[in-house]
Amino acid sequence: MHPTLADDLSRLPELLQSARDVAAREVSGLGDRPVARPGAAPSPERLPAEGAGAEGALARFAERWAPGFSGSAGPRYLGFVTGGATPAALTGDWLTGAYDQNVSGADGSSATALEHETLGWLRELFGLSEVHSGAFVTGATVSNTVGLAIAREWLGERQGVSVSREGVAALGPVDVLSGSPHSSIAKALSVLGIGRDRLRRVPVLEGNREAVDVERLAAALDALGGRPAVVVANAGTVNTVDFDDLRAVAALKERYDFWLHVDAAFGGFAALSPTYAHLTDGLDAADSICVDLHKWLNVPYDAAVQFTRRQDLQVQVFHNASPYLGPPTADPDFLHLTPENSRRLRALPTWFSLMAYGHEGHREIVERTIALARRLGEGIAEVPRLRLLAPVRLNVVCFTLADDPTQERVHALARSLADSGETFVTPTVYGGTHALRAAFSNWRTSKADTDRVLDALVRAAASAHA
Ligand SMILES: *Cc1c(COP(=O)(O)O)cnc(C)c1O
Repeated sequence: MHPTLADDLSRLPELLQSARDVAAREVSGLGDRPVARPGAAPSPERLPAEGAGAEGALARFAERWAPGFSGSAGPRYLGFVTGGATPAALTGDWLTGAYDQNVSGADGSSATALEHETLGWLRELFGLSEVHSGAFVTGATVSNTVGLAIAREWLGERQGVSVSREGVAALGPVDVLSGSPHSSIAKALSVLGIGRDRLRRVPVLEGNREAVDVERLAAALDALGGRPAVVVANAGTVNTVDFDDLRAVAALKERYDFWLHVDAAFGGFAALSPTYAHLTDGLDAADSICVDLHKWLNVPYDAAVQFTRRQDLQVQVFHNASPYLGPPTADPDFLHLTPENSRRLRALPTWFSLMAYGHEGHREIVERTIALARRLGEGIAEVPRLRLLAPVRLNVVCFTLADDPTQERVHALARSLADSGETFVTPTVYGGTHALRAAFSNWRTSKADTDRVLDALVRAAASAHA
């Protein structure tokens, strides 16, 4: 063994203690450190010939890199839809690395069974029935990709061809219909060989809505003349968190032949709250469902879940046939269900957080962050220099400058907020208007944090005006 490695081995508990000290310091300072660090990256160094040892690496990291890391796990980072890591989730994440299980298959470890237990809990959390089987993947983009890969196989089944064997050319053109799809849907269609251009926008409802107009969807399906299609319904759009009427969309299956994929990346968490659960009514009727976990569940990156009613088709797409792996069985190993072969025990942080805080603890996070988004929305509505672009439907506030919201001015506002270190929000375009989004999903965020964000906004908007 290399002497530095041997030395580290002999001092492993001590090294872990040092890492714990750094992590504890960072995590306890999250509420106070600058939320973003624009342009803070050092330039690359050469590969070390002789290593510094773990202690030396930790020192170099703390010196060169840690100062430029954002406070994205903290309470006032409102960009994209960004969760933090609950204390239990972080504990689970550390142990994932420590145990270093490979959950490709069930042999020789109970880790696969733990993933199954966790998937059962998630199914319950989102109000899904047992017809849905699930798997952990790295994020909503991959979850959408897996769901649409199963949809692609289903289209083949309808046409009497096997896409997984013959290739996507056996299918002919595919129709994918959606009202306000996330950009990851187009990416998934590109990856799957279906093609980005096959995604067709169906008009949304009138009146500042992003939800699909179900009548127009029915008309679009009707126009296909009986050709099976894929419908992507959206349960929580990124700009205004609007929800398609999932029940009404699913009811169209009585008249038209389509696969229903629901992108519920963060909107799925509405199901945790009795006040908002109606928004996810009909979710169980989907053929495939995407839910992100590193957003509103507040587990560390990277984790999402993918559910489907057609595990049989999923196995056709993803099975990994090899003499050493054996054929897929009735209870297929995860390596037959997702793009990965070897996989980490990504379920463990989720297991920890659900074990630690239960349904009620996570409901509280969801309801509190929604209330805080409303609070910020109400505050913004009172600021003459700012304008809300949509009602705060759930956990995202979509707003812009009241006067002359050009791209340049709106992006400058986002930059000055980031430079202030007080908060971080991300730009968007909503209804043709350049705007900003403040998304609440972090378990730590408080009223005081929200008021600090509003203060920072008022100051930044005033200087944007000057
Ligand atoms: C965030 C998001 C995605 C993509 O999620 P990643 O985890 O970043 O891959 C997809 N759909 C919706 C609705 C999202 O909010």
